[in-house]
Amino acid sequence: MEALYSGGLIFDGERLLENHGVMVKGGRIVRLAPSTEFVGFTGKHVDTTGQTVLPGLIDCHIHICIGAEADLVAVLGQLSESELAVRAMENAQSTLRGGVTSARDLGGKSFVEITVRDAINAGRCLGPTLMCAGQLICMTGGHGSWLGTEADGAEEIVRAVRNNIKAGADLIKVIATGGVLTPNVDPMQAHFDKAELCAAVYESHRFDRRITAHALGAPGISNAVEAGIDSIEHGFQITDELVSEMVSKGIVLVPTISALQEIVQNAKSGIPDYAFEKASRFCEMHRSSIREFHAAGGTIAMGTDAGTPFNYHGNNVHELGYMVDYGLSPLEALQAATKHSGDLCNLSDRGLVREGYWADLLIVSGNPVQDISAVSRGENHVRVVKEGFDVFDHLGPYIADGRAQRFIHDEPSF
Ligand SMILES: [Zn+2]
Repeated sequence: MEALYSGGLIFDGERLLENHGVMVKGGRIVRLAPSTEFVGFTGKHVDTTGQTVLPGLIDCHIHICIGAEADLVAVLGQLSESELAVRAMENAQSTLRGGVTSARDLGGKSFVEITVRDAINAGRCLGPTLMCAGQLICMTGGHGSWLGTEADGAEEIVRAVRNNIKAGADLIKVIATGGVLTPNVDPMQAHFDKAELCAAVYESHRFDRRITAHALGAPGISNAVEAGIDSIEHGFQITDELVSEMVSKGIVLVPTISALQEIVQNAKSGIPDYAFEKASRFCEMHRSSIREFHAAGGTIAMGTDAGTPFNYHGNNVHELGYMVDYGLSPLEALQAATKHSGDLCNLSDRGLVREGYWADLLIVSGNPVQDISAVSRGENHVRVVKEGFDVFDHLGPYIADGRAQRFIHDEPSF
């Protein structure tokens, strides 16, 4: 069906346009032009006066198998795979309802997320376009060993990469340092060494997969950068040297500010002490790393790590508010969540409002370039469109009243 969206502003992923209209047909954007060109159009008109049409947002770091529980490691260990599959689909649909029309899953369980991805991407179920890393790859006893695949030495790492590709992974995720949510690991300590990371990067690129590294402390970030990684997740300790190396090599930073903030802001809510302690300790270091990377002209893409404690699927837009709080302008935060994320995810026809692209749109009340809360607060969202299809008419009524969220976050009865 054909529809014209006009009357308000358009943020196309790069800049704000006034007095323009977007024509959608067959799920695609067929025309983006000055409004005068559409005078006399008699088909379906969606009046966006007082609103802004944006590309649907792209979240480069989520975990649809994890449900934002306070002690998610304990909960995850007790869920059956069939229950996990249902929850993963619910989490994916909450993500879409929240304005995120594409997302990268950076660590699933039992390849359940790949089945969910295929069901959505084939059009069997409504959800965001998903790209999946399959099982994250860590060293024996490394961060995330409760979720992913343990591997040691180049040979085992190559096998783990190949197993993911065999299962249908779109990209690869490696763990280069300790992390917050795993007990008895130090975020500042490097995990895989440089030779191991080189093997992972070589094997991923050989099969045209991008590879991203969970990397918090400087020694691990340095190993990943020297190994030729495509992007760094989190990046707590990006030294001046690493800033210039990452900028000159074009390595993208996915800061996932929400992950730390939601832990720090939810003290004494059942989050394990070790996780709260680590998140609090590194919060300010993280903030200054992001500021310096950004000030040096580094490319930032949006990622939330949704699924980590109190970091709910569907609240992904909070990340844009945090990015502005950490020094990006609203325009830069919007570019991070659309153009830069689309580029990092290697999406050639999503992430911009552009002719020929899929009509994945988020329509908000107000002007987010002036005030980011138009996007970062879900109550200002007016409409989410997925391939021309109005999501609020379908997923909206069920998810918006909180029933799905309440169910997902109930502790399971074993
Ligand atoms: Zn993560």
